[in-house]
Amino acid sequence: MKKLALHWQILIGMALGVAWGMSSSSLGLNSFTTDWISPFGTIFINMLKLIAVPLVLVSLITGVSSLSDISRLSRIGTKTIGTYLATTVLAVVLGLILVNIFEPGKAFSPEKREDFKEQYASTASDKSSDAAALEQQGPLQPLVDIVPENLFLAMTSNGSMLQVIFFALLFGIALILIPPDKAQPVNDFFEGANMAILKIVDIIMMTAPYGVFALLAGLVVDFAGDDPASAWELLMVLGYYCIVVIIGLALMIFVVYPALVVTVGKTKYTHFLKGIFPAQMLAFSTSSSAATLPATMECAEKNLGINKEITSFVLPLGATVNMDGTSLYQSVAAVFIAQAYGIDLSLSAQLGIVMTATLASIGSAAVPGAGIVMLVIVLQQAGIPIEGIALILAPDRLLDMLRTTVNITGDATVAMMVARTEGQLHPPTEITVR
Ligand code: ASP
Repeated sequence: MKKLALHWQILIGMALGVAWGMSSSSLGLNSFTTDWISPFGTIFINMLKLIAVPLVLVSLITGVSSLSDISRLSRIGTKTIGTYLATTVLAVVLGLILVNIFEPGKAFSPEKREDFKEQYASTASDKSSDAAALEQQGPLQPLVDIVPENLFLAMTSNGSMLQVIFFALLFGIALILIPPDKAQPVNDFFEGANMAILKIVDIIMMTAPYGVFALLAGLVVDFAGDDPASAWELLMVLGYYCIVVIIGLALMIFVVYPALVVTVGKTKYTHFLKGIFPAQMLAFSTSSSAATLPATMECAEKNLGINKEITSFVLPLGATVNMDGTSLYQSVAAVFIAQAYGIDLSLSAQLGIVMTATLASIGSAAVPGAGIVMLVIVLQQAGIPIEGIALILAPDRLLDMLRTTVNITGDATVAMMVARTEGQLHPPTEITVR
């Protein structure tokens, strides 16, 4: 019997998870679900987080060292990072424009707003401990935070992927600078390690349908409590907010990226979309740019004809630092919460959001739910109540899936642009949409 493709299995897992969550509320199985099902969801998320640091470390080291020429590296590096920044800022601005036009947060009735504050303050309390840590930072703190004082601490503490990237870039550059005969064995080691890590990603992904089932079941139970009707009602209200985020994400995929792929990448957008589609499906089903990275690289090389030299540098970097979908979502979410709490944001507060959402998306780990945790930074700086995060927890899984799809599409778009301008795009051999 032919096995169902992974993304279908994952979607079925999700649907069953929601169904279980809804019915366990009415059957009185809530505590069973919390005690015996939810932990498997946590295990699944932990596994993804577990592999994210080694994946970025190893793939970036191999990516940088394979460029084998410092001046090329700096040219490609500047181009890549500049384009990543530009697309991220564009996404944030787009999000702000949309959320100001549609004002989804104002759709809540005043009584509901009070309810939400009380009902979810407790759920948000663990997020606000992150907020406390982010308080009291100087303007250059984000820069200081990029340089780790201890590599192993960087790899263990939360949210320090940029430090790992910093070390990987430094190490990769050093490998280019030392004599080739000395660098070779190290390169071989990292190549092998890279393959092993990608295999681990495969193995983790095999458990994804079950992990997603457990996550969704737990999520619905947490959310619905003993009253499934209230869950539905809130989901309906939040639907408006979701639609605003989705419009923004759709504009990225159907307007912004096509413009870039066609003008700079000089490639037909349908061809691009067809080539990147398998990676998009995986991003959608895993909500993790890091877990999707192997597929993004494969699609970019095999289907789009981008040279391995470019993909192995641009894509691992992009999976971590370039999150257009996440930054767009963060700007919409922040203003949505402000609107829900009746806070009017000034223009300068909104410009502040452009900066913090850009930084927060860069700092978000490429794993499920990272964007909502880093949203704390954005809320904090704009003076929006952190507890508001609890309001948007419910639909976050769906939005995470969608924004991750945009995140990896953005990475591939930039890879395409860099490859074209570097003359590293060759006619693709075939398009294999699996
Ligand atoms: N899940 C997203 C990603 O991996 C990050 C986020 O939570 O927005 O790209």
